Amino acid sequence: MNSSEKGLELDGAVYKTLLESTRAIPWKIDWASASFAYIGPQIEGLLGWSQDSWATVQDWAERIHPDDRDRVVQFCIAQSQAGVDHEADYRALTCEGDYVWIRDVVHVVRKEDGAVDALVGFMFDISERKRAEEQLLKLQRELTELSFRDGLTGVANRRRLDAFLDAEWTAARRERKPLSLVLADIDCFKEYNDCYGHLAGDACLRRVASLLEATAERGRGLLGRFGGEEFLMVLPDTDAAAARERAERCLARLAEAQIPHEGSRVGKALSVSLGVATLVPGEGDDLLAFLEAVDRCLYQAKAQGRNRIVVHEDTPASHA
Ligand code: GH3
Ligand code: MG
Ligand code: MG
Repeated sequence: MNSSEKGLELDGAVYKTLLESTRAIPWKIDWASASFAYIGPQIEGLLGWSQDSWATVQDWAERIHPDDRDRVVQFCIAQSQAGVDHEADYRALTCEGDYVWIRDVVHVVRKEDGAVDALVGFMFDISERKRAEEQLLKLQRELTELSFRDGLTGVANRRRLDAFLDAEWTAARRERKPLSLVLADIDCFKEYNDCYGHLAGDACLRRVASLLEATAERGRGLLGRFGGEEFLMVLPDTDAAAARERAERCLARLAEAQIPHEGSRVGKALSVSLGVATLVPGEGDDLLAFLEAVDRCLYQAKAQGRNRIVVHEDTPASHA
């Protein structure tokens, strides 16, 4: 044995020691026989299956989570056949029946003629990273959810309301279906704050929001905070009669609640005024003009004495 061969032999032993002392789990698959030529002993520590239980590619595939299996096996076979190095994340089955997230990083070894000879790779335990990723996704979902809610009342905020209104306006125009708006504004709310203080005013806004929300029926409608003490209901596929009924329920719920309001010029209890408008939007219609129409109705309800509903006069069921 000459000195260079001895060096190689030594290298082999060193490599084996190195490979088997890392946390990554090395393996080799013989392509022709689709069987494991080698898998690092660390696999037993990670998944519990003994080193010699990894005989064929089938053993590997069977220990992949059923929801990941087809995707991963098909991807790895296709990439290997094409001779492309690749990596795949999947849940691997432990001998106790649990799953561990693994990243398999695969290098394709070719023969001189270019044909695939073997696959060599490393399995990494990425469960910690996956847990962190899932936590981050959950936080992101919560943040998105929060970014669409009004911080004080918990109902949809103006941003969400605008987006919903835009989308429903377009849908109503496309499907030639009626879209209704109910705009509610608390009466003499400035006096409520003056009388009971701003914090009590905040609590009152929360109470009103939940009373209005409770008038909802099943359907795709959305209630949101339109501005300070104004709430807008966007009611898709709702005709004028149904929109008026909804507004009447709002008046009724407020009347039942009998929230004391000593400073009100309307009565002894807190009340709201409501504007209602309905439209089957056509080509010439403008969403802003529709909003202005419902706002004008609200203004009229205020001018006529408050604690009442004014329905837009172009709205077919306004005679009801
Ligand atoms: P009207 O019957 O004509 O609607 O009279 P109003 O007093 O309700 O209306 P105005 O627009 O004069 O006053 C609205 C009040 O709502 C003034 C403002 O301080 C109060 N407001 C707006 N947002 C909040 C809030 O988040 N919390 C509290 N406590 N008050 C708010
Ligand atoms: Mg107002
Ligand atoms: Mg008001």
